[in-house]
Amino acid sequence: MHHSNQLQELLEVVDRLTQVHKSTVIIEDDAGSEEKVYIEHDPLLKQLRELVHSSLGSTVQGAGLASERNVIDADALEQYDSISGQLVKLYKEVSDAAPFPVPESNLRHWYIEFRRQVESRKVSQDVVATKIRKLNGVAASIENKLNPPTILEITAPCPRCDATHATDEQGVYRKAVVVESRIVQYRSLDHTKARCIVCSAVWLHGRGMRQLRYEIDHREELRHADKENIEIIENLFDKYDKIDVRSISVPKIETRA
Ligand SMILES: [Zn+2]
Repeated sequence: MHHSNQLQELLEVVDRLTQVHKSTVIIEDDAGSEEKVYIEHDPLLKQLRELVHSSLGSTVQGAGLASERNVIDADALEQYDSISGQLVKLYKEVSDAAPFPVPESNLRHWYIEFRRQVESRKVSQDVVATKIRKLNGVAASIENKLNPPTILEITAPCPRCDATHATDEQGVYRKAVVVESRIVQYRSLDHTKARCIVCSAVWLHGRGMRQLRYEIDHREELRHADKENIEIIENLFDKYDKIDVRSISVPKIETRA
């Protein structure tokens, strides 16, 4: 990868962490036509900082008396402290001055200085790639904390390898086809990924969900040509009854101007 492409990629993740940014979401309507929608997000570091003190951020454990709900989210605090520490370290790699109190400032100042080093060829592409990976990891960990994906299990066997159950990477025995979705957050199937933990087949986004649905239907027809076994398909998303798989469609999202 060329240096300038790398710097662009690096700047993108620095921006996501430190600045108000927009993301694009493709919404599909019932007719299958697509529409691009932009959503504005606060800087990820700011969102994590706010989560630490927000009662909304506390999960099931925090639900209880109102006075108890206003506690600090300990997990978010630990994550925030750890990330802040990493960014101070990063800053100290390029500056002898005292770090700033806010992690956003440390990261942006680091980026400016690091870019200068990259442009004067003092840094190898490998080192830049490592920084990109690291910062993308930081951003992803915050996004996961803010919006953990919904996990669904498909009751039908995998249409590609016919496996019904298997043990996943975490050692959990479960249905073979697992869906990770951010439908609640994005109100679309754009950030949805189905995966067979046996044969590693992957179906992505709304299009992929339609394809998976089609493959399962087709496989079922072959397998139960003389049986009326629609039930499996009907219960495809039984753990998440808001998704009607017969016509995967999503409500229109409201844009913020
Ligand atoms: Zn499979």
